[in-house]
Order: sequence, then structure tokens, then C-alpha cells
Amino acid sequence: MKIDRLETIHLCFEYDEGFTYAGGTCSARVTTLVLVHTDTGAVGIGSGYSHPGLMELVLQHQLAPFLQGEDPTQVEALWEKMYRITRWYGRKGAAMTAIGALDTALWDLRGQAAGQPVWRLLGGQRSTCPAYASALLWNDVDALAAEAARHIENGFRRVKMRLGRSSEYDVAAVQAVRQAIGPDNDMLVDGSMRYNNQTAREMAAQLETHSAFWFEEPFEPENLEAFTSLRQDVRVPLAAGENEFGLQGFKELIRNQAVDIVQPDASRCGGITETKRVADAAQAAGLRVATHSWSDALAIVANAHVISNAPNGITVEVDQTGNPLVEQLLNEPLEISDGQLALSEAPGLGVSLNQAVIESHRLSDPFNLANGSYSDMVFGPDFFRPAGPYV
Ligand SMILES: [Mg+2]
Repeated sequence: MKIDRLETIHLCFEYDEGFTYAGGTCSARVTTLVLVHTDTGAVGIGSGYSHPGLMELVLQHQLAPFLQGEDPTQVEALWEKMYRITRWYGRKGAAMTAIGALDTALWDLRGQAAGQPVWRLLGGQRSTCPAYASALLWNDVDALAAEAARHIENGFRRVKMRLGRSSEYDVAAVQAVRQAIGPDNDMLVDGSMRYNNQTAREMAAQLETHSAFWFEEPFEPENLEAFTSLRQDVRVPLAAGENEFGLQGFKELIRNQAVDIVQPDASRCGGITETKRVADAAQAAGLRVATHSWSDALAIVANAHVISNAPNGITVEVDQTGNPLVEQLLNEPLEISDGQLALSEAPGLGVSLNQAVIESHRLSDPFNLANGSYSDMVFGPDFFRPAGPYV
């Protein structure tokens, strides 16, 4: 089998109302799909979450000519090749994300060629993966409680909420969600990078009282010293990694003893290959791993193939904000029951793309996005409205 060509598909979804978070009001979401076409007719699929124009540039204008004619099942060798080709401007950020999208598609092809699901090729024995509902953005507290209860009714056993709005709100929101989901389900909180050393300790005390499962990104990702210091003082597990790339980046988190739980994302940090390496490095350091996902269903599935069988794998993130790129992108919808995401026994990633959803959300020009707040990226100064200081 040889690689024939790459196809890139950029998708965009605009919310009717959007959601409120630390970055302002999110109006739209984007993701990039990569299809690796081969001379046998087999097609591997992967996805990456970054600036669509940068993805197009790296994938089609840089990497594609180097992949043509290569054996797609030589995944690790191709990963190294792509990494070296992009090293000068890559290593972290969009180039690593592009490599990862391709890497995931190569794993899909490797699985198809072997007639085995990727999770089994990674050494696994079980086709399910614990998953959590990720939503509960800044809202009024009663609505938050009702929403949390709904996620539990829908089969989740873990929910993640966003804090960092104000001290008063945070305390009320945590109490309300804990009450809504009861003591037997897990409450995860994302600090939205909004705390300082003192407010993080105050919040951690609240989270310990309400038995939070983890405290994610209380600080900006560059501030590793603050993570390390906080971790020595509190008992709630700290989590971070959605802003980190590559094994080298995660080694820095691990070396600094900054977190209890690392959060790589195959659709951001370097694909299935690199997410597995990060999970292994965390395991060697006695840490747990729980993947981030905030883009599309294919990314969630790719992450779940790694987490389902990692000895230190805890859970995968499933966006529950009403995003069709998550809920409808695949012909095989994500099914959660009793907190577990089901993975297919079919070869490769075991999923296929819903063409109708692709056509209705296809971005015509990845270099020319409409102004808006795309959750993690902002286009147009009118949409740059981060929340005021945390009080
Ligand atoms: Mg987060």
C-alpha cells in the first residue's frame, strides 16, 4: 500500500446563541479533517484542531509531497520524517497539530491493513473507554444544575464545569453541580487559567470540600512554578496539558511535578503516536492521563483508542455543547452508557465520515475565516472580549 494523496477538509459550525466563557461569547467552532488516500483505495482519516489556514499550509504545501508514495503503515518512521521537516518552525503549535492529524489517519490505515482496531494494536483488550461530559459553561446556577443532571441522565458518570468567573459564582456553581449529580458521580472543574496563587488555594479548599475529581488549568500553561507550588499545598488533583505539544513539552510538565493528570490531545499534540508516548511517560512518572478534546468526534475517538487501554488512562473529554461536529460528524454516533464510550471492533479507528454534515459545514477558504470567537481562537478585534479580572 502506498500513499497516493492527501485531502484536507476544513469544517466550521456557527452556534445560534453560543456560550459564555472566560474568553467572552463563543460564536463558532472549527476543525480540520485529513483523508490519506492510498493506491489500494483504502482511506485513513484523522483530524487536527488549530487555525485552518495554518493546517492547510503545513499539510498540503509542506508535508503532502514528502508523503506521496510512502507506505502508510510505517507510522513512526513517517512521524519522525514529518517532525524533522517542520522542526524549524514546528515542534509546538500548528505544525505539530498537522503532523498529529496525519498520524491519526496513518494509524487508521495501519489498523485497516492489519484487520484490527487501533485500540487492540495499542495493546488493548477492551473496546470501551470512560468518558466525561464537557460543557457547563458560565451560566446561571439553576440552569447549570439542570444541565448537569441532564448529562447524568444521558449516560455520563462524570461532568466538567467551567469556573474562574468570580469567587462568589464559583462557590455557588460547585455546590449546585455537586448537589445535582449526587455523591456517586464525578465533578471535574476547569479553572480557565483565571486564578492567582491565593485564589487558587481558596478555590482548591472548596473543591476538596465538594470532592472535585480534578482542578484543571488554574493558571496559564506557561506558569509551571505556580502549578508546582499549588500541588504541594492542596489535595485536589491538578490537571493540565491541552496547551502542550509533543512528548518533549509534556516531559517539562512531568519534570516540574506540575500536575497529577496530564491532558494530551491526539488532535493537537501530535496524533495517536505522540499521545501514546505521553501516556507512557506519565505512567513511568506515576501520573494519570486524561485526554483533552474540543473539536470533533473523530478526535474523541482517536483519543479514546489510546486511553481505553492505557494502565494510567482515566477518561476522555466529550463536548456536550450541542456541536454537530461532535454529535453528527460520524456515521457511527458516539454512544455513552454508564459513563463508557463504546469503541468499534472494526479495523482501524472503526468510524466513517457523514458526508451530509461535511457538505453543510465545509469552509470554502481556510485562509479566510469570518470574524468571530471560535472558543480557543479569535478572529477580528470586535470579538476579543476576555472576561474582566477575577474577583
Ligand atoms: Mg480546559
